Amino acid sequence: MANKIPRVAVREQDPKVRAANFEEVCYGYNAEEAQTEASRCLNCPKPRCVTQCPVHIDIPAFIKEVTEGNFAGAAEVIHRDSSLPSVCGRVCPQENQCEGACVLGIKGEPVAIGKLERFVGDYAIEHNPETVTPAPRNGKRVAVVGSGPAGLACASDLAKLGYEVKIFEALHKVGGVLVYGIPEFRLPKDKIVAKEVEAVRRLGVEIETDVIVGRTLRVDELLDREGYDAVFIGTGAGLPRFMGIEGENLNGVFSANEMLTRTNLMHAYDDTYDTPIRIGKRCVVVGGGNVAMDAVRTAKRLGAEAFIVYRRGEEELPARREEVHHAKQEGIEFRMLSNPVRINGDEKGDVKSITCIRMELGEPDASGRRRPQEIPGSEFDIECDTVIMALGTSPNPLIKSTTEGLETNKRGCLTADEEGRTTREGVFAGGDAVTGAATVILAMGAGRKAAKAIDEYLTKK
Ligand SMILES: Cc1cc2nc3c(=O)[nH]c(=O)nc-3n(C[C@H](O)[C@H](O)[C@H](O)COP(=O)(O)OP(=O)(O)OC[C@H]3O[C@@H](n4cnc5c(N)ncnc54)[C@H](O)[C@@H]3O)c2cc1C
Ligand code: SF4
Repeated sequence: MANKIPRVAVREQDPKVRAANFEEVCYGYNAEEAQTEASRCLNCPKPRCVTQCPVHIDIPAFIKEVTEGNFAGAAEVIHRDSSLPSVCGRVCPQENQCEGACVLGIKGEPVAIGKLERFVGDYAIEHNPETVTPAPRNGKRVAVVGSGPAGLACASDLAKLGYEVKIFEALHKVGGVLVYGIPEFRLPKDKIVAKEVEAVRRLGVEIETDVIVGRTLRVDELLDREGYDAVFIGTGAGLPRFMGIEGENLNGVFSANEMLTRTNLMHAYDDTYDTPIRIGKRCVVVGGGNVAMDAVRTAKRLGAEAFIVYRRGEEELPARREEVHHAKQEGIEFRMLSNPVRINGDEKGDVKSITCIRMELGEPDASGRRRPQEIPGSEFDIECDTVIMALGTSPNPLIKSTTEGLETNKRGCLTADEEGRTTREGVFAGGDAVTGAATVILAMGAGRKAAKAIDEYLTKK
């Protein structure tokens, strides 16, 4: 299936300029561009894009509203299934989901569903149409632990059903990875995340920050002392992994989580704050996912010459395609098929280089990707003063260790069924805390499924 109208290109900040600032890279569509792009959609009777959207947004219906210039109507359609369209329009891996399935992609370019979703989400933020009315209260109370996409989605759905919902968040800011992980140049915090969180509050959801469940309050206390009828755990996977190689404790080695949290949450990039971060002149980021791309592009913006070291090939990079493209445009150097074996320090204990070994790809492994194998004797050094490990994360064991009857699997993820029921009655979970590090939309989808299961549980109880 082809379309005579070419996909409307999105305007972006010049790569040379943006590589030195933290302002948003992509400008998004204006109304005219959005309408032109929307007019490409064929409004398929059996839309493959909807099937591939983890929260099943009625994509052709919202796109039709955009074509007709009814942007508030489009927002209403999206808000039925998603409380974070401006976020998802910016960060979802659309190429593997809705756009990857769009029928127009078979012979040409798929509809730019993500950019249209972003346009509609931003319109809703700017014009604030009242898309959902809070439901009358049903007298039941649910505690949500964690304010990331899973917690926000679960809380929104429950509030819409009439539950009294309170989110408990460990950090001083609401949004989980959306505020502490994904950088400002990809996802503006005040302009977008805070506004979408505000819309969740407007549904009647209460949010308390600086409460570490498992320390300040235990899950059992929420159920027994505080009188909540159910608890949802959406605490994410914030515990970084390291390689276990020599030199990882040298000065100048960070986890990507620490580096990004210090930059985003503590404004290390902003000279007016007293919380800087030392990135040095040459920074090597190890990994190939979204976290690695965010870390390396942040290092570049903080003034370093920045490199990605990844043990597989470019085809296998798990990061969103757009982020890899943007990183290359910004001058990031990619050292593919290379794996660190040692980090080398000077007499003061500071990083001075990293030794890597070249890799080649063998047969596919359990993940379906070709297994990287070392090429003996191919070691080489990259001079650097900072090494950032972006190798994935796992859930923090705190809640499991302080809650009776809550089981985890061998990766430390909470055990829960498809609907989010854990091994403890009345306690539900979803998002990265259950799956391990995944995506925003999958976390939202899990939060929504759990909300449905909580509703069923409390209706029967
Ligand atoms: C740097 C980075 C870039 C990413 N880029 C993308 C991307 O481009 N696209 C994409 O789809 N996904 C991306 N992801 C993944 C995505 O952000 C996560 O999969 C998603 O945020 C998971 O949502 P969640 O709600 O399960 O957990 P989180 O977003 O991690 O939220 C969990 C929240 O729970 C809080 N919490 C933890 N423990 C407690 C406790 N004991 N008590 C109270 N609160 C607690 C945390 O402070 C946090 O706010 C990225 C992740 C990172 C780190
Ligand atoms: S598959 Fe593509 S063309 Fe068909 S409805 Fe979805 S976005 Fe429109």
